[in-house]
Amino acid sequence: MLKNWVVVPTRLPLVLRRCHACASERFRASGKFRVNANHKLIDAWLLALCTACGETVKLTVLERMNVRSIRPELLDRLHDNDPGLTAELLQDPVVRRRNRIALDWDNAWRLDTGGSDHLDREVIDVSVRFAARIPVRPVRLIAEGCGLSRAEAERLITEGKLVSAVRLSGKLSGDFTFTLKR
Ligand SMILES: [Zn+2]
Repeated sequence: MLKNWVVVPTRLPLVLRRCHACASERFRASGKFRVNANHKLIDAWLLALCTACGETVKLTVLERMNVRSIRPELLDRLHDNDPGLTAELLQDPVVRRRNRIALDWDNAWRLDTGGSDHLDREVIDVSVRFAARIPVRPVRLIAEGCGLSRAEAERLITEGKLVSAVRLSGKLSGDFTFTLKR
C-alpha cells in the first residue's frame, strides 16, 4: 500500500538573528518591503520585527542592482508587499547567506498523512513530499505519522523493519520514501 504524506508550512518561519536592542534572537517577517531607487540603482529590503522588543531590521533582498537587470514582475511584487514573496525570499539560500540568518521552523509546519487507514497495515510504503524546504527529522515525522513513539521508531530502524534510501536519523528537507513492516 503506497501512501503520500506532505509536510506543509502553516505559517512563516521565524528569522534567527541577534537583536541589537535586546537579547532576543528571533525576528518575525513583517511582510513589508522597502525599495530605494537611486538613479538606475535599486536596493530592496524585507523588514522584520524583533519578537521581544519590536525593533525593525532590514534584510537585504537587492543590493545596488541595475534596474534594467531586475524582472519587472519582481519589482511589482516588492512594491505591492506580495505576501508570497516573503515566504519565497526567506527560503532562498542566497538571501539567507547574504543576511547571515537562519530560520526557525518550530511549530510552523504540520504533517498531512491524508487519514489514518494506514495505521493497522502490516506493510506500508510512504512517499513524503515537502511543500517547503523545512528541515525535519524523518524519524520524528515517521513516529508522528504512524502513531509510534520516537523510541519505537528508532527500534524499528535498528531491527531493519523501517527502511529508506535516506538516513532516517539525521535532518532533511527534501522528498523521501520509506517502508515500514511491523
Ligand atoms: Zn529586540
